[in-house]
Amino acid sequence: MLSREEIRKTLLGQRRDLFRQAAQTEEELRWFESDIESEVEERGQEESMVRLLDRLDGRAKAEIEAIDQALVRIESGQYGRCEACGKDIPQSRLEAFPAAAMCMTCAQAGENQAALRK
Ligand SMILES: [Zn+2]
Repeated sequence: MLSREEIRKTLLGQRRDLFRQAAQTEEELRWFESDIESEVEERGQEESMVRLLDRLDGRAKAEIEAIDQALVRIESGQYGRCEACGKDIPQSRLEAFPAAAMCMTCAQAGENQAALRK
């Protein structure tokens, strides 16, 4: 079973991988080689990060957003609780999808609704 700290590291790693896809120059790639907890932000490169974010497609942006929200929930102690029904999300689901905000049942219900709106 993964600890919250391990999940947090996984999320940060996924986030970095997503940004890395958008990196085009040597300088941009270098940011992602420095380790975790990003010095990236600390070095005041927010503007450049925004530029990277611009290059990502909608799906990657949505993933980064989901990861950021999961990180916020870890900080606030809300992590692992379904946003829709408030029940605990099974650990196996969290390990497979660390950024999951909803339990399987609610996530599927959400997808069905989204499908209906199309
Ligand atoms: Zn739920």
